[in-house]
Amino acid sequence: MDTIDTLRSRVNGTVTGPRDAGYDDGRAVWNGMIDRRPAALVRASAVADIAPTIAVARESGLPLAIRGGGHNVAGNGTVEGGIVLDLGGLTDVVVDRETREVRVGPGATLGHLDRATEPYGLAVPVGVVSGTGVAGLTLGGGIGWLTRRYGLTVDNLLGVDVVTAAGETVRANATENRELLWGVRGGGGNFGVVSSFTFQAYELGPDVYAGTFITRAGDWEAALRGLDAWVRGGVPDPLTVIVTFMTPPPGFELGDDPVMLTGFVWASADRVHGEKVVDGLQAAIRPDVAAIEPTTWTAWQSAADGLFPKGVRAYWKNTSFDRLDAATIDVICRRGREQTWLGTGFDIHVMEGAFGRVAEDATPFPGRTSRYWLNVYGYWPDAADDDARTAFVKGFAADMAPHAAGAQYVNFLGHEGSESEARASALSVYGPEKLARLTALKRRYDPDNLFRLNHNIPPS
Ligand SMILES: Cc1cc2nc3c(=O)[nH]c(=O)nc-3n(C[C@H](O)[C@H](O)[C@H](O)COP(=O)(O)OP(=O)(O)OC[C@H]3O[C@@H](n4cnc5c(N)ncnc54)[C@H](O)[C@@H]3O)c2cc1C
Repeated sequence: MDTIDTLRSRVNGTVTGPRDAGYDDGRAVWNGMIDRRPAALVRASAVADIAPTIAVARESGLPLAIRGGGHNVAGNGTVEGGIVLDLGGLTDVVVDRETREVRVGPGATLGHLDRATEPYGLAVPVGVVSGTGVAGLTLGGGIGWLTRRYGLTVDNLLGVDVVTAAGETVRANATENRELLWGVRGGGGNFGVVSSFTFQAYELGPDVYAGTFITRAGDWEAALRGLDAWVRGGVPDPLTVIVTFMTPPPGFELGDDPVMLTGFVWASADRVHGEKVVDGLQAAIRPDVAAIEPTTWTAWQSAADGLFPKGVRAYWKNTSFDRLDAATIDVICRRGREQTWLGTGFDIHVMEGAFGRVAEDATPFPGRTSRYWLNVYGYWPDAADDDARTAFVKGFAADMAPHAAGAQYVNFLGHEGSESEARASALSVYGPEKLARLTALKRRYDPDNLFRLNHNIPPS
């Protein structure tokens, strides 16, 4: 039997090969630059399909890619000539109203999760685009509109079930296999296939106080100086702020020139306090337009979806930084004004708050003392622009390097090519002490590095 027949005989889900209908749709991931032709695509119909797929990958020696939402920018959710285990059909979300614990299947997107918790007036801290997979986002960290209020997604991860390379299911939570729970809070899919995530949810919504201040390019320097002074004055935890620079879509009220969008979410029932704090932010940055409309949590969480369609080409880089001084502002404004095409933008996340109070060694996620985080997200529709757009992202990262604190978030990294680059990046992302801990876990749960299509932690 060939690999496809073997898989069909062992799993209940759909197995698709290169000659089958639906193969091209099945192999496509969010990043259109990642164009790989797997030998077999397994669309799991249940968690029970995970262990047999792992077994076939081991027996055949074919590389194995694990896919949740398929949004990985580096393209780790697929593989040339190997087996893709696509968990995208396993989207169950079960909410326990009493404990506010939420159990999430490995194929759920942020949209599935937000829509399931909203009727209970609850939310789990996740990211900001609803098509992103909960699985990949969580395993890397999870930054979003509740980061300053409740920390990263991983800071609210209570437990996981993991199917290991040996095909065994291991539960990790506060009482069992605690080191494994530590590892999956930022160490990626290195230790096995997570078949279930349990999160702590919090009271939020359905209505939220959120909005955007818009600043024209001529006023950016003053706005950023004001923002930094305001941040250094101390920001109450309930307010999370993300500052976006981008060329707006056609029809935008201020025209086609690049704009600075200072978005905020106030995650507290004390609206009066929130309005006072937001007034302070507005006075500090003095925007040209204030766009603050009534909104719900799920509407806010999907407001940017249209900007990031599946199939665009993408390359990203990121870094933490602490000083928003004149030199840093100069780099940001210069690069922002150069970015005059639709597609590609960059965010400055204001960190600290609950994120910053988590101890550095409590999770593999780096840079807990960071004040800001820069994410440059290149995305564009046309292959002819690959070199120029990638060069812009790399050039921006190089310009920022002297001003950066240098922590990197694995989920905001693009494809960097070789295995040795991946190894170097594991050391630079996690540092020697955390990498030693992650390596020990890797040796225990995946000594042969079956799960290597990720930001890889080699077992030795
Ligand atoms: C448009 C867009 C917006 C984004 N916004 C945010 C944001 O606001 N905040 C943020 O933090 N990140 C954000 N990201 C980054 C995102 O967190 C990563 O791209 C993440 O990898 C996506 O997860 P996924 O499940 O969709 O990806 P996939 O490509 O399906 O999976 C990514 C990798 O995760 C691992 N993996 C997935 N599922 C499992 C599993 N069940 N068990 C073990 N390993 C698994 C595998 O290594 C896999 O290759 C965004 C990405 C995009 C493209």
